[in-house]
Amino acid sequence: MVIMTSSIRYAELHVHLEGALDESVLLEIAPGLDPAEIALRYRFEDFPGFLASFKYAAMQLREPWQFQLLARRMFAKMAAEGIVYAEVIHSAGICLWRGLDARAIVEALIEEGRRAPLTVRWILDAVRQLGPDHVMQAARFAAAFGPGEIVAFGVGGDELGADASTLRPAFTLVAEQGFKLTPHAGETSTAENVWGALALGAHRVGHGIRSIEDPALISELARRKIPLEISITSNILTGAVASASAHPAKRLYDAGVPIVLNTDDPAFFRTTLSQEFALAQSALGFTGEDLEILRRNAFIYAFGPVPGP
Ligand SMILES: [Zn+2]
Repeated sequence: MVIMTSSIRYAELHVHLEGALDESVLLEIAPGLDPAEIALRYRFEDFPGFLASFKYAAMQLREPWQFQLLARRMFAKMAAEGIVYAEVIHSAGICLWRGLDARAIVEALIEEGRRAPLTVRWILDAVRQLGPDHVMQAARFAAAFGPGEIVAFGVGGDELGADASTLRPAFTLVAEQGFKLTPHAGETSTAENVWGALALGAHRVGHGIRSIEDPALISELARRKIPLEISITSNILTGAVASASAHPAKRLYDAGVPIVLNTDDPAFFRTTLSQEFALAQSALGFTGEDLEILRRNAFIYAFGPVPGP
């Protein structure tokens, strides 16, 4: 069992701001909601169900102050757990799609990140199912900020929503501006989608667990030291893997693929980074030494300026 104390420093590289919107914060930002309905809406049994829960919660966020309050609550929890550095994914693409004041929201988030009790950098993302034009719109939006506190660009959502090749213009645009690239790929689909992410120039891959199905891909990830951002509880609860013991993270790690552990959407998966480390040890067979390597990997493969591990 890994006990997180303030003397051990952790970094987390794949956590969605909107995925940290738990029931209590939701009631803080939208006091008129019915707690019974919230409880019902937060229940899901598979990946489409998870996306529906996530969408319900995220749709309650409208104003910059609501995003800012969510970030503040999230950062406090992370700091209490010993997390000193985080790269937080914000669905700027969804904000644009909804017609919200996406710029004011990102500016509010950057401001909140600056006064957080940990070092915060941002990853802006778009969703595949809204198509390549939407992804391009989000890419242009991110590019207008320039790299700095926003370190990377990605895509999430339904992997079958848009083939990676159609996203190339958007990814090329942000890469030319100096942003790193970390698309979700190979979570619920195929190893082919991870190849697609690599073809887009991915510096890291969100999930990427289907890589286990393709030995050539495993070799490529290991050779190029492209890390997979692994979230064990997320993959179990969305049905991406059948059980914790069936999770391929340890096999990928043993094959030399860099692995970092993450919560993904802590409010929906009822998890914490310490729980993910504990699960990696108890169910997947990572040793204490392995866990130390995973802990350090999050500092090594961070896109922003990390405090020492
Ligand atoms: Zn994710």
